[in-house]
Amino acid sequence: MINIAIDGPAGAGKSSAAKLAAKELGYIYVDTGALYRAVGVAVLRRGLDTAKKEDVIPVLAEIKIELRFIDGAQRVYLDGEDVSAEIRLPEASMAASNVSAIPAVRAFLFDLQRSIAKNNNCLMDGRDIGTVVLPDAQLKIFLTATPEIRAKRRFLELEQKGTPVDYDALLEEIKQRDYNDSHRAVAPLKPADDAVMLDSGDLTLDEVVKRICCLAAEI
Ligand code: C5P
Repeated sequence: MINIAIDGPAGAGKSSAAKLAAKELGYIYVDTGALYRAVGVAVLRRGLDTAKKEDVIPVLAEIKIELRFIDGAQRVYLDGEDVSAEIRLPEASMAASNVSAIPAVRAFLFDLQRSIAKNNNCLMDGRDIGTVVLPDAQLKIFLTATPEIRAKRRFLELEQKGTPVDYDALLEEIKQRDYNDSHRAVAPLKPADDAVMLDSGDLTLDEVVKRICCLAAEI
């Protein structure tokens, strides 16, 4: 199977670009952030603290998370319920970032990610795909952009969706998540040694997709 890993910080445009590139290449697109978000939602629903491992770890034994691909689009299920919309709520972002720092959570989601990659040609995006989940991926890309550019993009996206948020608060949240993600002890956000670095700051979405497809054509 062909596996392409795309890692990078929140808002670098990984999911938009990876989704389009996957379509073009005929691969499935796997958004691994959705898995951490689903764990975060499960913990939030129980009224527990997503930053406390004593709260989070027992929840893992109670839940089942699945990804299903419907017409190529990924849906995420928590105990059989489609939570694809709920995981996008702003509180789910920080919850995901909190639970993702807990090694037991990463271990809980590892096999699921590996088995999807083993059985499908896929483009998988996340934070540790090239470094930990798929170290043998045929192509690894690290997509980045400044926090300000990323916050501006998220701001416009949320405004378009009719759920405007405060720009400064969004920028602060992005910086906080960057810090959490790159400073955690386990599987921190960092490029794999053999990753191709791609700065999406000066590129349009189409240009990023083209670059990914060109790199994929060289595999
Ligand atoms: O990609 P997304 O912003 O949806 O991810 C939500 C959170 O899940 C990230 O801030 C990160 O903490 C965590 N995550 C991770 N490893 C991945 C994907 C996401 O730690 N492979």
